[in-house]
Amino acid sequence: MNVFVVNCGSSSLKYQLIDSDTEEVIAKGLCERIGIDGSLTHKPTGKDNLVKKCDMPDHKSAVSYVLDALTDPVYGVIGDLSEIDAVGHRIVHGGERFANSVVINDEVIRAIEECNDLAPLHNPANLIGISACQALMPDVPMVAVFDTAFHQTMPKKAYLYGLPYEYYDEYKVRKYGFHGTSHSFVSKRLIELIGKEGQDSKVIVCHLGNGSSISAVRNGESVDTSMGFTPLDGLIMGTRSGSIDPAVVQFLCGKLNRSVDEVLTILNKQSGVEGISGVSSDFRDLEKASNEGNERATTALEIFTYRVAQYIGSYAASMNGVDAIAFTAGIGENNGKIRKAICDYLGYLGITIDDEANQTAGEEIRISAADSKVDVYVIPTNEELAIARETVALL
Ligand code: ADP
Repeated sequence: MNVFVVNCGSSSLKYQLIDSDTEEVIAKGLCERIGIDGSLTHKPTGKDNLVKKCDMPDHKSAVSYVLDALTDPVYGVIGDLSEIDAVGHRIVHGGERFANSVVINDEVIRAIEECNDLAPLHNPANLIGISACQALMPDVPMVAVFDTAFHQTMPKKAYLYGLPYEYYDEYKVRKYGFHGTSHSFVSKRLIELIGKEGQDSKVIVCHLGNGSSISAVRNGESVDTSMGFTPLDGLIMGTRSGSIDPAVVQFLCGKLNRSVDEVLTILNKQSGVEGISGVSSDFRDLEKASNEGNERATTALEIFTYRVAQYIGSYAASMNGVDAIAFTAGIGENNGKIRKAICDYLGYLGITIDDEANQTAGEEIRISAADSKVDVYVIPTNEELAIARETVALL
């Protein structure tokens, strides 16, 4: 079965065409600057890449360019659109309504629309992606896979904020958590690797990328996670502040003479390790600067690893133990120095790292030493494959 996986942002569209039988990527690519001018980067497996500027006034035209590229005589990978059997859409917010992926119908679309309030930048773009695909492939079944769904198993004690209860009742203000597809994919694999499928298991997944979050997974279900009502909460990230005292917002509004919206933009886009270091949000740049003696870059890296270690400790406490920890995403998969710096805090859990294994980048490997009391793994995440698998499972 060929599954077209679509991830629509406000001005971008990422896609993969995956053969679900072999789980191989047949083609992948990206449309950027939709609504501005438009460009397409199409990467068919085993063929030359196609990169071109296109006039993309909206997402429907972007999808149309992608479908043309997929069926192109030179750069294409399928004969015609009938070879696309299903579409899997990544949807950022499913609120409390969606604890699982669902086949898309009119009622599902209305329910996703009702969650727009909770993710005003993302959900409307995701919905546009659905309608663009429906317009061009009206008979192809489509599935919605939600970033929040995996965390819907969190107990109330983990997801409720210390606010008047009516704000939860009336406005659904609570912790939702994000990166759910990745946490689900990686935790499943981790539980498999430690041979605890179907048994009592306690694992922690550290998804460390530009956006970072950690989850505590008990018996395969998310019981806590570091992102909250929005993806701004929790760890310090590339440009996001992570958790701060909310009173700082009011204080900065006064000092900077800015609105709440403007200060939140600062917290989302100019903070995190970039804001602290003044260098970059990219950990490769930060390490280079730190090695060259840039103290703020060193501090930014230290704050990051410290926070990750704190979350691991708190989740080990939440679950009264931990069997295994996985690192994933750009930093988690590739940066052995950061992994080591995090694990250096975890001696009290009996964790020891195999330094040679830990030098490996980008592949699945156990990095804990043979005598480590907790297994530590690197497990590459693959959100697109997870979406394709969910899509096939539902159809
Ligand atoms: P996003 O959240 O945008 O998907 P990624 O998961 O790609 O982000 O993570 C981006 C981060 O991962 C950057 O800080 C970058 O330094 C780091 N990273 C990505 N690839 C590598 C690599 N090959 N080697 C070292 N670091 C990497």
